[in-house]
Amino acid sequence: MNRRNFIYLLGCGCVSFGLNSCASVPITERKQLKLIPEANLNAKAALLYEKVKEKEKLSKDLETLKKIKKIGSKIEYAISEYFARNNKPDPTNNFDWEYILIDKKKVRNAWCMPGGKIAVYTGMLEMTKNDDGLAAVLGHEVAHAVAKHSVERASRGMVLNTGTKIIDIFSGGKISQVNRTTGMNTVGLLSQIGIMNPFNRKQESEADYLGLIFASLSGFDIRETVKVWERMKEFNKGKEPPQFMSTHPSSDTRIKQLNDWMNEVILDYPPIEIS
Ligand SMILES: [Zn+2]
Repeated sequence: MNRRNFIYLLGCGCVSFGLNSCASVPITERKQLKLIPEANLNAKAALLYEKVKEKEKLSKDLETLKKIKKIGSKIEYAISEYFARNNKPDPTNNFDWEYILIDKKKVRNAWCMPGGKIAVYTGMLEMTKNDDGLAAVLGHEVAHAVAKHSVERASRGMVLNTGTKIIDIFSGGKISQVNRTTGMNTVGLLSQIGIMNPFNRKQESEADYLGLIFASLSGFDIRETVKVWERMKEFNKGKEPPQFMSTHPSSDTRIKQLNDWMNEVILDYPPIEIS
């Protein structure tokens, strides 16, 4: 077997599972395994999102929520327009976008469930600081959903025949760790469909790249993205595990990659004017 084929097989189980089980990520064209119907995952996510809304304390800061929604809707619009103008299927056409702001100062996090259900924690606002920073974070989280990373992970889980618990053991309790840092009482619920489980490094880098593109298409200053990660790095100083221990790229790798992509993205993905 030549190297190329080997990489192909490693990257995706398409050959052994047949063509229907294979998909590719929009824009990056990376091949990915897709054994679980996206609609199933989206439906589960929507139910879970309702429970999160019941259990978590939602912020009373409606001004900020309004701002998040405004930035989010620019991103939504830009993504759909971009794919329409390029005659490609819109990966968000079955999304039912929704945004919440969770009142938790200690949690510096945000997520987007499959299907476009988004949450920002108030602690994250200290890292994002401004609209461009918020767009950077929303762009990244939305990118995970656009690239169907949860579908891919769940499909791989099926192949490997592993449940969350087993993965947790092998990753050195990474998931429990994530649960602690997200500080949720809804952890059990979210881990049922793997929403809070960490994405792998390849997916993280892909979300960084696509996130830059989406924020740029939406008209934001994507140079702020690097600043957000620098603030995160500063905040995590001394607490950050070395890269090999984590599924996430280290801040340094992340910042370097983002800087490498920056000019290309600014040139190739200019803002889409709202018509
Ligand atoms: Zn991510």
